[in-house]
Amino acid sequence: GPKNTEAKVVIIGLVNSGKSTIMQQLKPRDITMTKLTPNIPIGMTAERFVFKTLTFVAFDLEDIQNGFGNPWEDHYRDCHGVIFVVDSADRMNTPLVRIQLDKMLRNPLMEKRHEIPILILANKTDQPGAVPSLQLAQLLELSHLNRPWHIVCSDGLTGEGLNEAMDWLAHRLR
Ligand code: GDP
Repeated sequence: GPKNTEAKVVIIGLVNSGKSTIMQQLKPRDITMTKLTPNIPIGMTAERFVFKTLTFVAFDLEDIQNGFGNPWEDHYRDCHGVIFVVDSADRMNTPLVRIQLDKMLRNPLMEKRHEIPILILANKTDQPGAVPSLQLAQLLELSHLNRPWHIVCSDGLTGEGLNEAMDWLAHRLR
């Protein structure tokens, strides 16, 4: 189990989906979050915190011009779990979310690691017009995933939903 062994969780999603806000909720108060900067000057940052044996790294999933891959995708190589954050109130962006989800799952560093669980957070559930999690699961075709997955509605501002979500993930980290 994850109790005595190191585990790394990557938190990914589009810009503005709520990754930083959720990181703040997950980290203990006295732990600081570190901003990471890439070697190549494309202005994409990532954030990280370490708590005991658990490391959380968050970064944006965006298309990058000029043939660069995401400078952070190397974290797929040694991660034990993925938290995929979706702004469920931003219906217009759902097709893009699906593209980015597929792209992440087809990444060679991730594709063959079927054991890696993916937790989908339907975040901003407090917003009027937020897509219900069942509908979001259908739009993203989560039933086609060949790995453990779970979708939970969350409110990054209050932390609502995060306990249930993290319980699910914690039981599947190894
Ligand atoms: P990131 O770019 O994915 O790291 O997104 P942020 O964590 O910076 O959040 C983007 C914006 O959405 C900020 O203004 C947050 O306060 C807000 N936000 C994050 N989660 C929620 C949520 O669950 N509900 C609402 N209403 N706003 C949220």
